[in-house]
Amino acid sequence: MDEKKLKFNTKTIHGGQHPDKAYGAVMPPIYQTSTYAQTTPGGHQGYEYSRSANPTRTALENALASIENGKFGLAFASGLAAMDAVIKLLNPGDEVVSTNDLYGGSYRLFKQVFEKYGIKFHFVGMQDADTIATYINENTKLIWVETPTNPMMNVIDIEGVSQIAKKHDVLLAVDNTFATPYLQTPLDMGADLVMHSATKYLGGHSDVVLGALVVNEKELADKLYFIQNASGAVCGPMDSFLALRGIKTLHVRMQRHCENGRAVAEYLNGHSEIDKVFWPGFETHPNHGIAKRQMNDYGGMVSFIPKSGNKKDAINIVEKLKVFTLAESLGGVESLAGHPASMTHASIPKEEREKSGVVDGLIRLSVGIEDAGDLIADLEQALKA
Ligand SMILES: *Cc1c(COP(=O)(O)O)cnc(C)c1O
Repeated sequence: MDEKKLKFNTKTIHGGQHPDKAYGAVMPPIYQTSTYAQTTPGGHQGYEYSRSANPTRTALENALASIENGKFGLAFASGLAAMDAVIKLLNPGDEVVSTNDLYGGSYRLFKQVFEKYGIKFHFVGMQDADTIATYINENTKLIWVETPTNPMMNVIDIEGVSQIAKKHDVLLAVDNTFATPYLQTPLDMGADLVMHSATKYLGGHSDVVLGALVVNEKELADKLYFIQNASGAVCGPMDSFLALRGIKTLHVRMQRHCENGRAVAEYLNGHSEIDKVFWPGFETHPNHGIAKRQMNDYGGMVSFIPKSGNKKDAINIVEKLKVFTLAESLGGVESLAGHPASMTHASIPKEEREKSGVVDGLIRLSVGIEDAGDLIADLEQALKA
């Protein structure tokens, strides 16, 4: 079986997977062990200590590589732990050009942790890929792209950015958390590295915190494996198992997330009490052309601003929702609603936040896979009240 030729819907289930060698278990056992017996010093079966490698984690890492059309997958304790490993590739004095409206925790990691180690970050609106080049100098080592962006749903042209990255010999990393490989595979568009918060759609059931990296180049993979083992922010076997189980239904969940996302976006767009709806599937969305070319569909994330635009009304609406749960996070089977300015993006200073459009009236929805009619009825009652 030539794995590379398998379609996505088959890779999610079989990619990089083999029945377990011991008893033929179809799902990899949860190898809840820290260490492995050796017959003679150094005489082991490929595993010696679970920070370095664990068979359940290996099964997950192989699945991650397969679904992202990459060669090497690495799994971490969280999405931010995966990002932390990427930035540790850099040295003091190096510079990073990053998307300006990105996940609040990513911004905090860059600004409040790594800046004090002498790494400089530029936060740039990347909808026009050409503006990136103006921020690149001889110290630039990495371009960090998040698309669609969180929570403004801007779409960045990965292929366009990759041309700039290649021209300047800079590494390109894409946070593919929102889209998932169901919608886009950045490595196929010229990215060097894909990162995931597998806590979200890949895990898909809001029961695990986990991060992932996927790359194609052996040299880059080796450097990241070194950091993964040396810094040690690995995920445990139970969490690896949960993420792997989640991936097996990614394609069916994503199909429904996209259908429901569209239904909710269209409902909100026609509502008299709503000022703006952010969803890349609208033809009027400023980056719709790129989204249409780059993505297979438009995903389940929808943001909107009610007519009054004030914080009180936004909070009132999210508190009134009953089927949507008011909570951080996204990408699970259940629908969630959030108020980015006071939740996911509270760690970004108000002025910075508002520059990228995250105003106090903004509400973000992670549309789940429930009945679309129930979700719309829930929004209807909350908007009326
Ligand atoms: C949640 C999230 C992260 C951080 O991942 P954790 O698993 O929470 O550490 C990074 N990027 C995006 C887009 C996210 O939504």
